[in-house]
Amino acid sequence: MNMKMEVKMSEALVNKIIPFSNVDGPGNRTAVFLQGCNLNCLYCHNPETINICNNCGKCVTGCPADALEISNGRVIWDSDKCINCDTCIKVCPNSSTPKVKKYSVKEVMKIILEYKNFISGITFSGGECTLNHQFIVEVFKEVHKYGLTCFVDTNGFLDFENLPELVKNTDKFMLDIKAWDSSEHIKLTGKDNNIIKKNLEYLIKLDKIYEIRTVVVPEILDNENSVVNVSEILSGTEIQYKLIKFRKNGVRLNLINVDMATDSYMEKLKNRAIEIGVKKVVIT
Ligand code: SF4
Ligand code: SF4
Repeated sequence: MNMKMEVKMSEALVNKIIPFSNVDGPGNRTAVFLQGCNLNCLYCHNPETINICNNCGKCVTGCPADALEISNGRVIWDSDKCINCDTCIKVCPNSSTPKVKKYSVKEVMKIILEYKNFISGITFSGGECTLNHQFIVEVFKEVHKYGLTCFVDTNGFLDFENLPELVKNTDKFMLDIKAWDSSEHIKLTGKDNNIIKKNLEYLIKLDKIYEIRTVVVPEILDNENSVVNVSEILSGTEIQYKLIKFRKNGVRLNLINVDMATDSYMEKLKNRAIEIGVKKVVIT
């Protein structure tokens, strides 16, 4: 029997909600992070968001705050007792976390409406939030009634031509282009990038992209090749290109343990993108 948490279409497993974020799209935004991903990037900074908990119970006894228990074969997390030490995440062999909550559309909206006067919009992120595209569409339909913008932060691994309701109800996407070369992408994520490139072209045609992101990883990736190819596509558009320096915080160092790019290398990539014609390039 599958003991994973049952989730209806109008519900989603939420890893966390950040009421005010200024790094998940333009302005001040409420960011909702959904649990579960369809890629497995070597450099994932939140590897505990990749899988849905399988209730193996291995994290339960190590909790110093008695915030975890097993009941009817399921792990139950008590957020009131939890001291957020993250011991459970560190011991989980499944790239998961017991610290998720199932939310209905109504419950997410209740939280969003508490902040609606102080934010310009909502961003869904993850994990890979588009795995819950029906849930996102239902939330966005409600959010738009209050004049807030609706953004999606995605790895682009689902074919968006097959998700017309998601595309229609999303104001803008922020899309990762992790590597341009297919074999490099497979090495990094476990999957090919054909669909991601197709989504890039498709969403540009619809003027639905706010930002493209590439994480710069020296030694492992041909960063310049990715930056050049992405820049040629973004050239002359208003789309922002964000170059993110690989950092070791939170990553699985047994999978990837390389040095960060130097500031001068990041500047070099930024200048390359600008030379090719990208109007907005930011380094973080
Ligand atoms: S983070 Fe995990 S291990 Fe730590 S108190 Fe909370 S539930 Fe327990
Ligand atoms: S969070 Fe990880 S260790 Fe804990 S029960 Fe779920 S799969 Fe097992």
